[in-house]
Amino acid sequence: MVFSGPGQLSFGEARDPEPGPGEVLLEVAACGVCRTDLQIVSGDIPARRLPLIPGHQAVARTSDGERVGVAWLGGADGTCEHCLAGRENLCEQAEFTGWTRDGGYAEQMVARRDFVFPIPGHFDDVHAAPLLCAGIIGFRSLRLSGVRPGERLGLFGFGSSAHLAIQVAVHWGCEVFVFARSAAERTRAAELGASWTGEYDARPPAPLHAAVTFAPAGAVVVDALAATGPAGTVAINAIHLDGMPAFDYDLLWRERVLRSVANFTREDARDFLAVAADIPIEPRVETFPLEQAATALDRLASGGIAGSAVLVV
Ligand SMILES: [Zn+2]
Ligand SMILES: [Zn+2]
Repeated sequence: MVFSGPGQLSFGEARDPEPGPGEVLLEVAACGVCRTDLQIVSGDIPARRLPLIPGHQAVARTSDGERVGVAWLGGADGTCEHCLAGRENLCEQAEFTGWTRDGGYAEQMVARRDFVFPIPGHFDDVHAAPLLCAGIIGFRSLRLSGVRPGERLGLFGFGSSAHLAIQVAVHWGCEVFVFARSAAERTRAAELGASWTGEYDARPPAPLHAAVTFAPAGAVVVDALAATGPAGTVAINAIHLDGMPAFDYDLLWRERVLRSVANFTREDARDFLAVAADIPIEPRVETFPLEQAATALDRLASGGIAGSAVLVV
């Protein structure tokens, strides 16, 4: 699938990708569909190169038959201040799969050998795909929210990433409160272990110790702050927000913390994949053939995906 400008995603023959030094040629089996893909294809996230093959949750095989995952962070320089401090997710020279590099909406792709991850044998190709962005970045968001076992955690929005994060949080013994727009999302959250569900602006029965927002809407961040108690952290899992509304300082006062979550590190990926297999997480997936990528993105945009959409190659 080739993206050639806002709203233009078409199916066609692409050139065979050529691996460069340190890169590996991969046969893609499945690729997850992420909201970020939607934001790139719609132009909300400006294109960094065109034409571009989107997709950053690819499960693929090397010529030796090794099964690996390719995720959003496609490279980092390893030498800058951030990389040396263990924050390669913030590297100024970072490369991103399906944005600055061609991604996995394709039969073949290339990836840096040092930026692919072995996939635990527990997961088949289709169920492994959403772990690679929705799962890893949701996991980093949980970490950055500072939530500890047994605490009250709020999840705001209940799409692909939240439906995986809740399974980790429940495994950690957290009491999970899910705030979502649609009744269907709230029902799914209850099925996956939420102890309470409500609309975005509902108040939970007790203040949250930590919250993660998944909805790409600034107003939801303010709702999350209002539901969070003193010293609690609200972590924003969104690469793009519609904007941040002004809000009363009382919502931040008493040492509440508001922070964004940017990308992930390879350590997050390895740790999450191990935890996911250990629990084991059960991703709910809806599959589409590769050539129906545009349909999958439309369904994601309209909130019609129950869990994660995955393209089967
Ligand atoms: Zn993603
Ligand atoms: Zn760097």
